[in-house]
Order: sequence, then structure tokens, then C-alpha cells
Amino acid sequence: MERDKKIFSLINDELHRQTVGIELIASENFTSKQVMEVMGTCLTNKYAEGYPGKRYYGGCEVVDQIEQIAIDRLCELFGATFANVQPHSGAQANAAVFLACLKPGDTILGFDLSHGGHLSHGSSVNFSGKFFRPVFYGVEQETGTIDMDKVEALAHKEKPKLIVCGASAYARDWDYKRFRAIADAVGALLLADIAHPAGLIAKGKLNDPIPHCHIVTSTTHKTLRGPRGGIIMLGNDFENPFGEKTPKGELKMMSAILNSAVFPGMQGGPLEHVIAAKAVAFGEALTDDFGKYADQVMLNARVMAQEFVNRGYNLVSGGTSNHLMLLDLRNKNISGKDADAALGKADITVNKNMVPFDDKSPFITSGIRIGTAAITTRGLKEQDCLQVVDWMDAIIKDPSNTFLIEEIKAKVNASMQNFPLY
Ligand SMILES: *Cc1c(COP(=O)(O)O)cnc(C)c1O
Repeated sequence: MERDKKIFSLINDELHRQTVGIELIASENFTSKQVMEVMGTCLTNKYAEGYPGKRYYGGCEVVDQIEQIAIDRLCELFGATFANVQPHSGAQANAAVFLACLKPGDTILGFDLSHGGHLSHGSSVNFSGKFFRPVFYGVEQETGTIDMDKVEALAHKEKPKLIVCGASAYARDWDYKRFRAIADAVGALLLADIAHPAGLIAKGKLNDPIPHCHIVTSTTHKTLRGPRGGIIMLGNDFENPFGEKTPKGELKMMSAILNSAVFPGMQGGPLEHVIAAKAVAFGEALTDDFGKYADQVMLNARVMAQEFVNRGYNLVSGGTSNHLMLLDLRNKNISGKDADAALGKADITVNKNMVPFDDKSPFITSGIRIGTAAITTRGLKEQDCLQVVDWMDAIIKDPSNTFLIEEIKAKVNASMQNFPLY
């Protein structure tokens, strides 16, 4: 068959875009070549509904081994006792947990979307907000951080069946232990969604949710640097704390409930080519090199955050403890949308983002979110990060100066030649 020139040529355009620019979108990263290679293999041809050793199709001997390796490596990486590697994405992983643990109309307590939470934690436009009754905690206006006493009071008032901790734009660490104490006090399940900091948590650089949370979900493509996908893990609490019984009167194990929620509950056939790529990425994350990578990600973020502060920028919560920061641009006389667009013209990619207590709409926003996972994979170090902040600051101060933007774009493109992508 003739090669599809149109699509391959567009893929080349995208590779060029990724190669010449500075990628600061906090949820993005660059996988290794082998992770990418594995996704483009014959494994995509295979139907394997079910789980290793218990499939609904023949010919699964090989994919069974691959999926089991992915499960084992993931459990080793996080110290989990159970893992499901089939969710097609982070949102699917969360949906499966909700399906496993909740009945329609049950109350979930999550982190406010407009304060940095995720759509899949009860937003009204997401299924989680349509089928369940969401209530939200947020950050304090003064500190930009979560007041755990307020979370506790809210939990006692609203009696949620499930509490979700974790976010998409929160620059500080999570007190999983305290969340668990609150969950226990009100009889709720505790879910940690570590989609963003997973790679840092895996290497012990941030608080560990596994000993405290009933269930942990994540994506595999953010700081974990794997293929696009989702995962579900269990720590110590295997048994369903609500004591759901099988028809025979046996207590169902949470692991079995979660597995059936993913398949057949939420999904059909698993993406074995992606699961194989997840296995490769988990293998990479298990190496000491990945620990050094995680350290550099956090160092780069701290250096950038401090430099922004030195230059008079307001950061939500005043800085960062992980891989990302949220700039509140309200004192800079520019919206998140305009800053995003101006930086984009210089091949510096960020995303506009609501800041807590934002007075602008989600399409305009007052902030931008910046993350260091992708540039650190490219090899940028502290000095390079200071240079990036210098360029960004110049553009944000003078966003309609097309001459300046062209000049910076040329410097950005030239400097990224020193950090080969593939
Ligand atoms: C990114 C993210 C997700 C969703 O991941 P997708 O793979 O895009 O579905 C879920 N939860 C949080 C906290 C996230 O940041």
C-alpha cells in the first residue's frame, strides 16, 4: 500500500515543532525513543479483553507476559500491592474508580477546578459531576495553599463517600496522612490522583500516598515520562471498606472490584501496545538515572520560580515544591490568554490557567502554568532555566513587540539545537 504522505508529513511538522521550541506545559514530557518505538508495533493488532491468564480471546500468551511485567514493575516502582495498567487515560482511571466505589448521587469531595483541580474530580461538565454530587475544597486566598482544618470541617458537614486529593495545577505537596485521618473520621474512601507528580513520588522526592490512600490513580505520560495512559494502584487497604458482599456472601476484594470496573465496566479491549510501552517506561523509571532526572526537574522548577519572584511576579503559594508553578499575572497587566499567545509566537509553549479566585473566564484567565518535566528531559539545567525566564519576562512585559518576539524566537530555536530531542 502507498505510504500516507499527508499524515507522515504532518507528523514531521509536529516533530519539528517539538524540536525547535521550549516546552513548558506542565503536563507534557518527551518519552524515550524505545517507549515510542514500542507503541508503533504489532501489539496494536491484538484483542485481549480480560486480564493476564483470564482473557476472552485466544492467542494472548505473549501479551499476557507483557501486561504482567507492566503490573509487576509498576508495583515495584510505587511499592503498591495491586496495579491495573489498562486505563486508556488518567480520566478513565478515575472514572473506573468512581464506578467501582460509588453509586449515582453519592457525594464526592474534591479539589476545586478553578483552584487547580481536575475536570474528572466532579466538574459539572464531566461525567463525575453529572452522576455524583460534587463538593469542593480549595486554597486560601492569603497563602494559596490548602487549609486542612477547612477540609476536615467540610468533610464532616458533607459526609462524602469519596475524598479525592491531587490536582493539575497545585505547586505544593499533599498531606495524605491527614487526608486519611479525615476520610476515616467520616467513613469515606480516599483516592489520590497523582497524575502530575507521579514520577517524583516514584523516586521518593515527595510525600508517598501509597501507605495512606485506599486507591491511587495516575497518568503515565506526565512526570512519569511514559506513553499516554492511565493506571490504578492499591496500597495497604485491599478489602472494600464498605464491605460489599458477593452473592455468596464473601467480602469482595477491592482489587477485583477495580479490575471489573476498568473492564468490563468502563472499557473494552486494552491497548497492549501502550501497556508494553508503559512497562518499558516503568523499567526506565526504576533506574537511578530517573531519580537524578526527578531531582533536576524539581531543581529547575525551584530556580525558575525564584527567578520569577525576583523579577516581581506573583506565584500562587509563593513558589513550588514540585515540577510546576502557577504565575498570577494580574499585577503584570496581561491576561493568561495573551501571555500564552505572545510566548507561543516565540516558540515558548505554556498554557493559560485560572488562578484561585480568578475574576476572568476560563478562556481568558489571569495566569499561566509552567512545568519543567519536558525541558529537563531535553537536558536544560539551572542556568538554562534562568535564560528561559529572562526571555519570558521580556515578552510578557512587551507582548505586542513583534520585533522583540522574532528576535527571542531565533534565540530559542538556536539554543534548543544544543538539546537534541531524538
Ligand atoms: C492530567 C490529569 C488527569 C487526566 O489525564 P488524561 O490522561 O488527560 O485523561 C487526571 N487527573 C489529574 C489530576 C490530571 O492532572
